[in-house]
Amino acid sequence: MKMILDLLFPPKCAFCGKLLEKGDLCPNCENSLPFREEKNAVQLIGKNNYRCAVAFYYDGPVEMGIKALKFGKKSWRSKVFARYIAQTAAEQLSGEFDAVTFVPVSLRRNFERGFDQARLLAEETARLWGIRAAPALRKTRHTKAQSSLSDPAQREKNVKAAYAVPRPDRVRGRRFLLIDDVCTTGSTLSAAADALLEAGAAGVVCAVLAGGRRKTEDGGAPLP
Ligand SMILES: [Zn+2]
Repeated sequence: MKMILDLLFPPKCAFCGKLLEKGDLCPNCENSLPFREEKNAVQLIGKNNYRCAVAFYYDGPVEMGIKALKFGKKSWRSKVFARYIAQTAAEQLSGEFDAVTFVPVSLRRNFERGFDQARLLAEETARLWGIRAAPALRKTRHTKAQSSLSDPAQREKNVKAAYAVPRPDRVRGRRFLLIDDVCTTGSTLSAAADALLEAGAAGVVCAVLAGGRRKTEDGGAPLP
């Protein structure tokens, strides 16, 4: 069965898409993954200074991988990427959360794209810890793609109050790890985290696969 599957779906590098003999990471990507240094592994976001664990800079193979995940409907990549989110979150935020959730996309975007990449990443991350990611948020209105806005203030306004908690009873008193793929200005994560707190969550920390450019080291460069 494995052999037949390999013929139909030959193993590929989760980041650059190169065909592989085996495994899910090519040696090139493996040697050039832009890990964030320990001192930059946690970014504070939003007015509430949510702690966000960031595995990689948004650069090189990680940029390729995330674009492929978003636009290629290649959900298998999320299994590989989740390993890095799980590791960084465990290292940086251990003991700070007892539930895992994700930043949802709007129904319209979900329909256009066919899946919700943050949800996949959260589900795979939770699976690695032997728990389940719980949907807690709903996007209440369609917003412009954050990537179409370069100004941080515009980004903040675009997503402000765009998230709601349909079932506050499932949120109250719990401490959430909120997962997304990329953190740019943090306004999306921050808006979603605010909604969880307003619904009675006891705390929110965040984790993303990537954020910031390697050369600037502070996430200040333009990002998708
Ligand atoms: Zn590769």
